[in-house]
Order: sequence, then structure tokens, then C-alpha cells
Amino acid sequence: MKRGGYMGKILEIDLSMKTSRTTPTGEDLMRDFIGGRGFVAKLLWDLVPRGAAPFSEENVVVIAPGPLTGVFLPGSGKVHMGTKSPASGGYGDSNMGGHFSPEIKCAGYDAILVRGKGKEPTLVVIEDDKVAFQDAGDVWGRGAITAESMLKKRLGEDFQIATIGPAGENLVKFACVSHDFGRQAGRTGVGAVWGWKNLKAIAVRGTKTIPVAEPEKAFQKGKEMYAACFHKPGFQTWTPYGTAEVVDWVNKVGAFPTRNFSETYFEGYRGINGQALKDRIKVTDKGCFGCPTPCGKYSRARTALGEVLVEGPEYETIALLGGNVGLDKIEEVAYANAVADELGLDTISGGNVAAFAIECFQKGLLTEKDVGRKLAWGDLGSVVFLLEKMARREGIGDLLAEGVRTASRKIRGGSEKFAIQVKGVEWSGYEARWAPAMMISYMTCDVGAHHNRSWAITYDVAKGRDTLEGKADKAIELQHIRPVFDALGLCRLQWVEIGFELENYAELFPMVTGMDYRWEDLIRASERTWNLTRAFSAREIAGFGRSYDYPPERFMEEPVPDGPAKGKLIRRAQADALLDDYYAKRGWTPGGLPGKAKLEELGLGYVAGELEKDGYSLKP
Ligand code: SF4
Repeated sequence: MKRGGYMGKILEIDLSMKTSRTTPTGEDLMRDFIGGRGFVAKLLWDLVPRGAAPFSEENVVVIAPGPLTGVFLPGSGKVHMGTKSPASGGYGDSNMGGHFSPEIKCAGYDAILVRGKGKEPTLVVIEDDKVAFQDAGDVWGRGAITAESMLKKRLGEDFQIATIGPAGENLVKFACVSHDFGRQAGRTGVGAVWGWKNLKAIAVRGTKTIPVAEPEKAFQKGKEMYAACFHKPGFQTWTPYGTAEVVDWVNKVGAFPTRNFSETYFEGYRGINGQALKDRIKVTDKGCFGCPTPCGKYSRARTALGEVLVEGPEYETIALLGGNVGLDKIEEVAYANAVADELGLDTISGGNVAAFAIECFQKGLLTEKDVGRKLAWGDLGSVVFLLEKMARREGIGDLLAEGVRTASRKIRGGSEKFAIQVKGVEWSGYEARWAPAMMISYMTCDVGAHHNRSWAITYDVAKGRDTLEGKADKAIELQHIRPVFDALGLCRLQWVEIGFELENYAELFPMVTGMDYRWEDLIRASERTWNLTRAFSAREIAGFGRSYDYPPERFMEEPVPDGPAKGKLIRRAQADALLDDYYAKRGWTPGGLPGKAKLEELGLGYVAGELEKDGYSLKP
């Protein structure tokens, strides 16, 4: 069967030399790592020299669509972006929707690699086979959204553009890459690496056709998938609210981040839930390329600080820049969302850091003299002030820009206990003291405390929240399934939120690519990728392993004070039991390293050799 889905080339850009070249997309790379996140993991392993600093010319940014990106099927507009993370010092990646990814495919590439460092602020313009390096001096210092708008005017609407804001330029460890006026690759500080490289923006325009192995069959299947999506019950109930729909449920089960995760039930949830969003600020729906279920909500919000137009807020932003800082009005959350987007800050980490600072202030660990003003829960002025200070690294913002792990080590006074992070990356929107499957998912997530690899909290609620039985298994199962979407270049929300069956993707994959793969083969590639990203962090962080997998002390020492989860916590012994079970099921060592036999079984024997050079023992 003829090959499809892949464009056959990887574009390598060297910002120092202002040069570019292409290399063929390797057969092994496609066979073993599929695309998207798989390509990011493998290319970072191969190309980032051992020990390279995240902020260095040697560090590489990999931007990879997947083989199904841009093909006619629901949600085929996702791109994966990774680098050695300045937040964790290990493997980092993030995922972004919009229209950037299909444009990269249409320009002819399966991935873009960025190395080096521009001598001055740089805009890279990719037009099919042509790559140009332009001066970005006029947009440097501008907000991420403003810069995108200016560049659209300069280059034309046909270009899809990704930018960073001042946070990326100022090397804030949780700076994001922004696109389509409100879509972000938010996590792990990819935007800061762009900023260090003086890379302000990449603009892409492509006119090529994506090859498809069996076009008639794939088109028919795509049509059926769209039709099926529209008939799923979740289509009517979920789409009008988007991800904000889940606020009520998360609060009801006592898992809603509230005042720096000191509580898990937010009394003001009705002011910031999906209904409030729909009734009070939503203007229209907004979706990514090819999406039948647009979760984006374009909103207009008026507050005492002014009026904003913003895409959002989606659930994570509502949780971290809403309940977690005590804001109980959707208009104010939207305002904070717009400020963070323009500054180019990840709203998840930004909300965590703001909450951490407010709690430090409330406890007297930061004073008005340290900060420059009073900080209070539920005060939009405090939140906006903190976001702006962090993004510009002004005053206290210079310390906060390092993230809560580093900030707490400097502030001390017990603040380490309420620095809510794993591996240096702040916790996303599900408090998990009473959700062991979700807890072990966060503890072991390869990029830090992020939910997207395994959203297991529904399993906890369905199967019993006081037992650890089966929880590690569920986390592993989801950590393999969900990243398949990231490898294929697809959105997973049609599956997660409206119940679209996984078999559809397995059926479509061979029709598009011509590769004789079943679902199990995709899962195998996902497991291979998971072991490789873990190994990458072990190679890059001395002493990496089990000690990097514990949740924040607050979750192990402070019972939830009130609400549905009152009295619950995860004891250290329980965390250890979860880790023991998880490592054993994965074929890893008790210290949390991929076992040699597992690596060899996955065709990663060369990775075992590299880790053994560091003195790691890989016997499970
Ligand atoms: S559901 Fe949301 S994230 Fe997924 S493709 Fe649609 S708009 Fe994009």
C-alpha cells in the first residue's frame, strides 16, 4: 500500500547561522515513534547533547504535528512542542491547538527543529520550501496576542503564526508559546527557551497536499466520524460550555483548587462555572482546525480594571486563576486570563505562582515592602499585579518567575510545604488528596504536575476513592492511551468529553498512513515514548528518580479542612505504596528508573547503555 500522512521531511533551523536545511523523516522514527510527541521525545534524546543547559545554543526546540494532522477527521489540528525544560531541567513538552500544525504539514514538514540563538530578535518565515529570517525588533516587547496581530497585518492572513510575549523574552520559567489569539503551548517553559533563543515568532504558510494512502476510504471514514460526533449525547451538553462545563463536578467531588490548594471546595463556584461563562461573557464558540466540538469560547468581560476580549477562560484557567486565587466572578477570571495571554504566561503555573505569593503574604513570609503592595485572596488587582511583575521580572516578580519550587527554597519559612508542584512544574486543575489514581498520575507525569497524560479522577470516583487497588494500573493505561493522540497530532476531547470511540482512530490510521498498525501497536509506541522521556530526565538530572515523584508536602501532611473531601490526605506511606505498585507494573526499578529488560523489550537498549554510563542500576 502507498504511504501517506507523512510529508517525508524534517526542517532544521539554525538561528545562530540563519540557515536551514531539510533531512528525510527516518523510517525508524515513523515506525517506532509515530509522530508528534513521539518525534519530540526521540529527537530530543538524539539531538540535545547530554548536560546541555536549557538556556543554551545546544538546546533544541522540536515542533511536531502528527501523521493524522491536517487530515479530514475531527480534531486534527494539534501540534506538540518540546525542549529540555527550564522549569524541570528534564524532559518538557506541551501541546497546542489552532491552525499552526496543519499549516506545517502543508508546508511540507513532519517536524521543525530550532537550534542556536538569534543575534537579534528574530521572526522565522516559512513558506513551503522557503525559509527566511526577519528582524522582529518591532514586535519584541509586545504582547503575544498583539505581536500575532501585527505580524498577520505584515505577512497576510494566510500565515499561521506562533509568538511569545514578554514572559518568554524575560525567560520566565513558565512562559508559553501562543497562537491563534488564545491557543497556547503552555507548560514546561517552552516559551522561555524561544525567548532565550531570541525567537519571537514563527510564521508558516503551506500550499502542499497531504498524501493519504487510501483517500476514498479515509474520506468516507472521516465523514462518518463527523456525523457520529454530532449525534453523541455529549455534543449537546458539553459543547456550549466547553471545558468550563466540568467546574461543578470537580467542586462537587471536592477536588477544585481553592486558595493555593489549601481547600478543595470553592464556595463561589457558581460565579465562575460553565453556566456563568455562557450566560455572562461568552460571545461565540471558537475551535481549532477541523473541530466539530469547539471548546474555545470567545468572551467579552467588563471589570473594574477594564474590558477585555479573550478566548476563554477554559477549565484550567478558571481553576487556577479563579478558585485558586479566590476570584469568584467569571468576568474577573476572564480579565486575568487576557492579561496572562498577552504577557505569554501559562495560566496554570501563573495561577499557582500568584496563589503561592498570596499565601506567603497572608502568612507574613512576604511583606508589603517585599512585594510593593498588599496581596489578598479574591482580589483581581493582586492577581494582575503579580502576573505583570512575574512576566517582566520586576521586583518580587524576578523570584516568582522561577516558579514555586525555586521561590519557596529562597523564601523558606515552611513555604516549601505549600509550593504545589512536582519536578518543578506547578500542579494543574485537580486536587488529588482523595483521588489516588489521579494522584499517582500527577506524581509520575513525565513533564511534572500535569493532568493531561492521565485524567484518572473519574476512575477514582467510580471505583472507590479510599482504595489504592488498581489505581497505578489505571494511571499507566491512560498514560499510554492519551499520548497516542499527541503522537497522531489529534485532539483527544472528542473521545474524553463526548465519548467518541477509540476504535475509530485505530481504523483510520492505516487508511491514512498505509502502515499496517493496530491499536496495540500505537499503544506500544506510546509506552516506548513514555520510557524514553523518563530516561531523558534521568540522563539530564543527576540523581533523578523516586525522590522526584512525591506530591507536595501539603497533600501528605494537611488533611483537607472542609467540604466533600474533609479530613482526606495522601500519607507518605500511601504515596510510597502507589509508587511501588506503579514502578513494578511498568518494569522499572524501585528507584523509579526504566528497567533494562523493559528498555530492551521496547527496542531501547541503547538508552539503557546511556543510563548505565551514569552509574544507574537498571535492575527492577
Ligand atoms: S475540542 Fe477544543 S481543543 Fe479540541 S480541537 Fe476542538 S476546539 Fe480544539
